[in-house]
Amino acid sequence: MQNIETRRAAMIARGDWQDRTLLDHLRHAVAATPLKPAIIAIRNGHEQQLDYRTLDHLSDRLAANLRARGVQPGDTVSFQLPNWWEFSVLHLACLKAGAVSNPLMVIFRERELAFMLALAETKILVVPTSFRGFDYPAMVANVRDQLPALRHVFAIGDATTHAEPFDALLADAPPALSPPTPDAVIQLLYTSGTTGEPKGVLHSSNTMLSNLVPFAARLGLGADDVIHMPSPMAHQLGFMYGLVLPVMLGATAVLQDQFTAPEMARQITHYRASFTMGATPFLNDLTEHVEATGLTTPSLRVFVSAGAPIPRALVTRARPALGAAIISAWGMSENGAVTTTLPDDPEDKATTTDGRALPGMQVRVIDAEGTPLPPGTEGRLQVRGCSNFLGYLKRPELDNTDPDGWFDTGDLARMDPEGYIRIAGRSKDIIIRGGENIPVVEVENLLFRHPAIAEIAIVGTPDPRLGERACAFVKLRDGASLSFADMTAYLADQRMARQYIPERLEIVTEMPRTPSGKIQKFRLREIAKT
Ligand code: ADP
Repeated sequence: MQNIETRRAAMIARGDWQDRTLLDHLRHAVAATPLKPAIIAIRNGHEQQLDYRTLDHLSDRLAANLRARGVQPGDTVSFQLPNWWEFSVLHLACLKAGAVSNPLMVIFRERELAFMLALAETKILVVPTSFRGFDYPAMVANVRDQLPALRHVFAIGDATTHAEPFDALLADAPPALSPPTPDAVIQLLYTSGTTGEPKGVLHSSNTMLSNLVPFAARLGLGADDVIHMPSPMAHQLGFMYGLVLPVMLGATAVLQDQFTAPEMARQITHYRASFTMGATPFLNDLTEHVEATGLTTPSLRVFVSAGAPIPRALVTRARPALGAAIISAWGMSENGAVTTTLPDDPEDKATTTDGRALPGMQVRVIDAEGTPLPPGTEGRLQVRGCSNFLGYLKRPELDNTDPDGWFDTGDLARMDPEGYIRIAGRSKDIIIRGGENIPVVEVENLLFRHPAIAEIAIVGTPDPRLGERACAFVKLRDGASLSFADMTAYLADQRMARQYIPERLEIVTEMPRTPSGKIQKFRLREIAKT
């Protein structure tokens, strides 16, 4: 790990950390354009608008009510929510109260939720009463006895016996502000574990804003932009570019809570969105929809695609279809978008690379011994600089940042002579299904406990739309049997996110192994393709 004092001194000296928080930007926007829409949220087809003054006012009240319910600076507030306006208000309120925002994906079920809330020692949790027909307060009630630190659960929507009404948090209350220093932890975001358990990525205002400032400058984004966000704000992509970026710019955010391509197209045209961002399936589906309907999206200037491998053919197709710059980016929850292509990049760079490092960040490709490799050679991708995270919650040993600040990403890449990288694969054991990372080791560990299973390995198989889907290879115990339905029912019983359950089962008599006995996943991937 890197020494934080040394790092801070270097970052301040270089001007990469500007020692500001999002509240400084909010204050500026409220003073400059109090009545400008800060958020246009479309919930179940209904539009809700909040101007900057209202955003500020509601987050003041929410902060005061959080403090009144025992939230101390440094405490964690968790919210498992779709892209609703309350999400943004909650984050700003946490900042004002000095609390740590812990956004959680709506797909998480009892298993993920109990682990994450317990590790975070969450005091306050906010959930929808219902979303996509699922009862969140009832789920929380199922795990509440495992969560001694949890004091209050609030639900947005209809009244429920399992939670208090969220509106109570917006009631009039005497102001109680305790804003964080720019180096305080402000965000805890769980990333799917390659080690078997989710890891809690920690960011400060300095690490987060030092990504967004150069990102906005490179893409020419400012207060006049309308930023559309179809990706979940509980992912770093949605959080940083759909929630924090618009407030930083004093721009308008348009929040989509349930993704379909026709609705995304409608929102972009109706609200004249100039910028949007999402993983490959969002770009793929929107492009197909626009091509099929002959619709145009004249306001759209930039579509940033990130979070999963981006096929060259898709970028080539999407550009004329959407009439926008298609920017490819590579990044992680740990450091935000680290590399991006540039709007005026030549065709080959725009379509065949994942871009070059943003100012303040460095990337390098190394071999197994840690020696930097010449251009064009595939190796391990490392990054260092201003937006790299602070470490993992209560798991310092999992942080792959060396004393010089180089963070080992677990991705494999090549770099060209101009510093543009292309992701070539992964050394870490995850599967990216439609931009959602599946925690492979965790699912394997669960299946390993099934009485019929002697050995288990899960690999990704290519999928034209989602990029990858999970396929489970199983060696059975003598005399045992296991059907696909048995496997999915078993995993569903464990109350894990449905998206994590493998979509194919292959029974094998022997696992392919290395001489040292490790399962050769690359061989399984080849078998799965046939
Ligand atoms: P996010 O929340 O932004 O999706 P995660 O931390 O969940 O970030 O996932 C990061 C991983 O996604 C990367 O380590 C990499 O494996 C993959 N990824 C991100 N961008 C790209 C890209 N442009 N091409 C290929 N893989 C990518």
